[in-house]
Amino acid sequence: MDIIKSNLVFKTLPKKRKRTRGIVLHHTASLKATPEWVHEIHLKRHWLGAGYHYLVRLDGTCHILRADDAIGAHCGVNAPYGKSGYNNNRETVGIAFEGYFHYRAQGVYHDKMEFRQLLAGQELIKHLLKKYPDITFIKAHKEMPLCRTACPGDYFPMDKFKKVLDYDLVKDDVKTDVNRADGDATDNTEDDIMELRTIIDRAICVLNEAARIK
Ligand SMILES: [Zn+2]
Repeated sequence: MDIIKSNLVFKTLPKKRKRTRGIVLHHTASLKATPEWVHEIHLKRHWLGAGYHYLVRLDGTCHILRADDAIGAHCGVNAPYGKSGYNNNRETVGIAFEGYFHYRAQGVYHDKMEFRQLLAGQELIKHLLKKYPDITFIKAHKEMPLCRTACPGDYFPMDKFKKVLDYDLVKDDVKTDVNRADGDATDNTEDDIMELRTIIDRAICVLNEAARIK
């Protein structure tokens, strides 16, 4: 997949993570978000720079904001650094999706995610799962310990992103785990359906793009 470099200038370079256990998903809670805009806002909060590692834009482009092996600043808890008992930022990669995926009485919001943004996010997650094989979870920001937030919003398609991990693990499990006696047939069917769905989704995406270009 194409990942676009942002060349943001950080105050100092963030430290490297020691472990990578999960991926945390966010929305930018804005209708528009460029890498520079995110960087600017986070600098104003006195962070080193953009706190997320990646930004997936509405048009399906994927931008790297900070090195993905560095400690992020996207799901911290209100406790002195490292004192909360949770390593939210120190063990996760943060991906922000441009958009506002939550109801609000005033102002526009996104009540669904466009396919090209969804697909780009799924591709990015697949890429990260390959790069960091110790990843065991994909969570919404609001699902992280001690994070009181609605991020990434009720209309954010969490299940569609979490499935990427299930699908990847299932494939590995079939190869390596001999104890999967329960419901193997069902799992394999699921596996096949997921694969077919991905192919169909991709075909639809290509057709839509072709129609749009015409
Ligand atoms: Zn968030």
